[in-house]
Amino acid sequence: MIIAVMEDSKKKSVARRATVRHLVVVLGDQLDRNSAAFDGFDEKTDIVWMCEAQDESTRIPVSLPRIVMFVSAMRHFRIKLEQEGIRVQYHDFSAKRMTLDRALREDIAALSPQRVILLEPGEWGIREVLRAACPPALLEERADRHFLCSHEAFEKHARGRKQLRMEFFYREMRRKHGVLLDADGEPEGGEWNYDSENRKSFGREGPGRLTMPAPAAFPPDAITRGVIDDVRRYFPENPGRVDDFDWPITREQALIALKDFIDHRLAAFGDHQDAMWAGEPWLFHSRISAALNLKLLDTKEVIDQVERAYRKGKAPLAAVEGFIRQILGWREYVRGVYWRHMPQYLERNALDAREPLPAFFWTGDTPMNCLSDCVGQTLRYGYAHHIQRLMVTGLFCLMLGVDPKEVHRWYLAVYVDALEWVELPNTLGMSQYADGGVMASKPYVATGRYIERMSNYCSGCRFDPGVSTGDKACPFTTLYWDFLQRHEKMLRANPRMGLQVRNLTRLDTDQRDAIRKQADQLRSRLRASKSKW
Ligand code: FAD
Ligand code: SF4
Repeated sequence: MIIAVMEDSKKKSVARRATVRHLVVVLGDQLDRNSAAFDGFDEKTDIVWMCEAQDESTRIPVSLPRIVMFVSAMRHFRIKLEQEGIRVQYHDFSAKRMTLDRALREDIAALSPQRVILLEPGEWGIREVLRAACPPALLEERADRHFLCSHEAFEKHARGRKQLRMEFFYREMRRKHGVLLDADGEPEGGEWNYDSENRKSFGREGPGRLTMPAPAAFPPDAITRGVIDDVRRYFPENPGRVDDFDWPITREQALIALKDFIDHRLAAFGDHQDAMWAGEPWLFHSRISAALNLKLLDTKEVIDQVERAYRKGKAPLAAVEGFIRQILGWREYVRGVYWRHMPQYLERNALDAREPLPAFFWTGDTPMNCLSDCVGQTLRYGYAHHIQRLMVTGLFCLMLGVDPKEVHRWYLAVYVDALEWVELPNTLGMSQYADGGVMASKPYVATGRYIERMSNYCSGCRFDPGVSTGDKACPFTTLYWDFLQRHEKMLRANPRMGLQVRNLTRLDTDQRDAIRKQADQLRSRLRASKSKW
C-alpha cells in the first residue's frame, strides 16, 4: 500500500510504502551517488531524505552565492535521483521553513523506517544535531570514503608526535596512495616538495590576458534561476551578490571545470599560485573547491587526472606536485586536525584577540585597495584564492586583533566552498594563530611590502606599504610592527620568529610609541563603524 504524504503538488516523489527499510540521509555536502550512503540501496524499499534547512543560512549571515551553490546543487541532485526512479523525501526551504533536526524527527515518525542511514556529516555540530534527532537503535552511521585519510589513520599519524606538520603527513599520504612516485617508490623528480619554485609574482606586466584563458563558466539554468529568485526573496538581508553566479553545480559540470583547468591553467598554477592581481579573481586557480566539498568530484579522480597530465607531459612537475599537495596534503590534513580537536577547537583564542570584525568586511567599502578588491570579489563571486584569504583578509584580522570567532563566522559565511571542517582550521589555526600553533608553526605576519611584492594592489592605493606612521602609512605595515610589539614576549620564544622580532630592536622608543598610537587610532576608527552582523 502506498500512502501519499505530499505537501506540495510539485513533489511527486514524496510518498511512502507501508514499510520503509532505509531512510538514507543525504546532506548538502554529500551529493555523490557512489557514496557509502548508497551502498546496498534498494529503490523498492528505501527513500532518500534531503533538507534545505533554513537555519543553516540564518544562524550565520551566509552570503547569497554560497546559499545558491548548495541549494541549486541539492535540487539538481534530487532530480537526478528521481530520474533514476529513486524516491526522495525533500524539504524545500521556500515551501516550508524547517530546521534540520525537526524535519528529520517528523519524517522518522511519519515514515517509520527500519533504519536511518547517515553518512558521517562533515561538521561536528551537524553530526550532533542529527544523532540527537534519530533514535540510536535506528541509526547506522557510515564512514565517508570521499576522504583518503580515515579518522583512525590520522589519529595513528598524530599519536606520539609533539607537533603535527603537514609536510610529514603529506609524504605518508603520497607513499600510501602511490601518488607521484617513481619506479623505485621514491618521490618523482627526487624531491617531495617544489614549493620554492611556486612563489612567483607576475611582475609589472601582470598575468597577461592572452595566456590566461577564462575558466569554464556555467550560466544559471532554469533551476538555478529559480533558486536565485528564492534566495533573493527569503534572504533579503544576507550579504553577497548573485548576478554573476556561474559555478559548476552538477557532477557533469564539475568534470568539465576540472578538465578545463587541467587543459588550460594547471601548467601555470605552480608558478603563480601565490600571486594576486586587481580585478582578476581566478588567475590560474582551479575553482573546484566547492565541487570537491559538495562531493560532485571525487578526491582520487582529481589527483589521478592531474598526475596523468604530468605523465603525458602537459604540465611541469612543480605545478602538478604543488596542486596535488593542496588536495592530498592540506585538504586531508585540515580535516584530520578538525576532527581531532573539535569541539574545543572552536573556543581557542591563544592571542586573546577581542576586536570586532570591521564593518567593511560586509561591504568591501574601504580605501585599502587590497582589502577592497579581495572583499569585493568575495561578496560578488563567493571566491578568493588562498593567498588572498591568508595574506590579505586573514592577515589584516590577525594583526588588528579581531576575535577569531568573528573571523571564523565571516569565512564560513562568504565562500561558496565554506564548510566548517575545512574553513575552521584554515581560519582559526593557519590564519589567526588562535590555536597556539596546532596548524602553523608561527603566526603568518607581514608588512604591506609582502602584498606589494605579490600583487599590483599597492600601485593604486592611497597608502604607502613602506610607511608605518603618518597619513600615508599603510595599515598593514603599522599593524605589523604593532603586532610584534604586543606579542613580543611570546614571539621571542618561537625560533621561527627570531629574525622578525630582532628587527624590532631597530625601532627606538619614540617610533614604537608612534606606531602603537597609530594602531590604536585605526582600531578606534574601525570599531566606531561596527558591523550590522
Ligand atoms: P586552488 O588554488 O586551485 O587549489 C586546489 C584545491 O586544493 C582547492 O580546490 C582545495 O580543494 C584544495 N586546497 C588548497 N588549499 C587548501 C587548504 N589550505 N585547505 C584545504 N584545501 C585546500 N578551502 C575550502 O575548501 N573551504 C573553505 O572554507 C576554506 N577556507 C579557507 C579559509 C582561510 C582563512 C584560508 C587561508 C584558506 C581557506 N581554504 C578553504 C583553502 C583555500 O583557500 C581554498 O580551498 C581555495 O582558495 C579554493 O580555490 P580553488 O578551488 O581555485 O583552489
Ligand atoms: Fe594594501 Fe597597504 Fe598596499 Fe594599500 S598600500 S594596497 S593598504 S598593502
